[in-house]
Amino acid sequence: MQGMTLFLILIVPTIILGIYAQHKVSSTYNKWVKMPSRGRITGREAADAVMRKAGVTGIEITETGGHLTDHYDPIRKRLVLSSENYRGTSLAALGVAAHEAGHAIQHKVGYKALKLRMALIPVTNIASQMLPFVLIGGFVFGMLGLIQLGVLVYLVLTIFQLVTLPVEFDASRRAKQELLAIGIIDRDEMVGVSKTLNAAALTYVAAFVASLANLAYLFLLSRR
Ligand SMILES: [Zn+2]
Repeated sequence: MQGMTLFLILIVPTIILGIYAQHKVSSTYNKWVKMPSRGRITGREAADAVMRKAGVTGIEITETGGHLTDHYDPIRKRLVLSSENYRGTSLAALGVAAHEAGHAIQHKVGYKALKLRMALIPVTNIASQMLPFVLIGGFVFGMLGLIQLGVLVYLVLTIFQLVTLPVEFDASRRAKQELLAIGIIDRDEMVGVSKTLNAAALTYVAAFVASLANLAYLFLLSRR
């Protein structure tokens, strides 16, 4: 098959999926961020309550700028929430805050997929930094050796994205379970939390599919 045909079959659909996932996460978040929870608890308070119930201590909860910049930093033991989710009481804010608290719980209980993901970060960072040079050298200058190196780079990235999936799904599962168990939200409010977290999960699935497709594409090119 021609390189262009392979590109159209393998890469173009993943680009479309990626755009769809980004659109879906922002439209879903924008919808549920306008829906306040009845309990009027902020994301910060929810993250704190979820961690406290699980016996997670010594994690600092901080506020950051930007849109959907929320994350758990296992190295600094810090739970970082964007202002909308830190101060907000929306179903979206509670979902995201509890999800990040779910990562802190994973860290405390030694959840295996999280450990593996953390161990893969250094090699994944190297692979990401090599990627532009490998692709430019491989495609613009037609250097076959670099295409073969690209296969290795995408193999690393694909494994990382694959390990990320259970970590993300598990954090969302813990978030939903604890928000209900603690009584931060009522069962009929769960739809807003679930839809927000499911849309976020789709972006991780899209990233994995894109890596896998790029891996297959470069592998097939390198064999010609
Ligand atoms: Zn997450």
